[in-house]
Amino acid sequence: MKGHTAVITGGGRGIGKAIGESLAGRGVNIVVVDVNLDIARETASGMERLGVKSLPLKADVSNSSDVSGIIDSAVKEFGKIEILVNNAGITRDGLLLRMKEEDWDAVINVNLKGTFLCSKEAVKVMAKQRYGRIINIASIVAFMGNPGQANYSASKAGIVGLTKTIAKEYAGRGITANAVAPGFITTAMTDALSDTVRQEMLKSIPMNKFGTVEDVAASVAFFASPDAGYVTGQVMHVNGGMYM
Ligand code: NDP
Repeated sequence: MKGHTAVITGGGRGIGKAIGESLAGRGVNIVVVDVNLDIARETASGMERLGVKSLPLKADVSNSSDVSGIIDSAVKEFGKIEILVNNAGITRDGLLLRMKEEDWDAVINVNLKGTFLCSKEAVKVMAKQRYGRIINIASIVAFMGNPGQANYSASKAGIVGLTKTIAKEYAGRGITANAVAPGFITTAMTDALSDTVRQEMLKSIPMNKFGTVEDVAASVAFFASPDAGYVTGQVMHVNGGMYM
């Protein structure tokens, strides 16, 4: 993977940042895409300290002109894109009857439409190269559902269907598409949950511990590598046995 280029959405912090660090440790140049340019810049500096080149870019993945802008900028800087990690994601939780339409739309737009837009733009570049690795970050709730997360679990289940379709459409062009479905991973997103909810979740995890961002990054690194060349349309579950 040395010298490859990876575009990581939501790459400024949390799981996206850990994915960047893991790939940078393997010699991959990193395009850090985030809605917050300051965070993207800070994270990109950290990648450079690992000895690779890194480009911070501000973009909202649900905005098609932002997305074509980041892919253009990445190609301008590095000449190619081998890896796309669709990691940007948000939650706007609420029980179905109380869920506002705008919360439904926001989550579907960032999580699912964002994955669609970024994949569509990146595939144009990857198809010409006849090589590409698309890795989409789904979630355990795509498979189990979760009270209060109708929008989020639908967006993540949509990502699984999208991943398999991209895998079938572009297998002949040397592009693989796979998904990683994390369970409960300690990040800012899950820190927001109450202690009671966290303790309840713990009871349902056979390994009796929450996952780390590095656990997720390791699976992404496998899918991103040339070693995974015959693996496409798959979902890797990283959840301590919570769903199997
Ligand atoms: P964080 O909230 O810690 O990080 C998400 C990142 O995405 C932030 O940097 C955020 O920017 C960025 N982002 C948000 N909206 C957009 C947007 N519209 N365009 C570009 N970037 C955006 O989340 P996690 O690291 O926990 O989650 C990463 C992914 O993993 C998500 O897809 C999430 O759904 C998934 N996941 C997480 C699990 C967990 O337990 N943590 C479990 C299962 C899946 P900003 O900092 O400005 O908000």
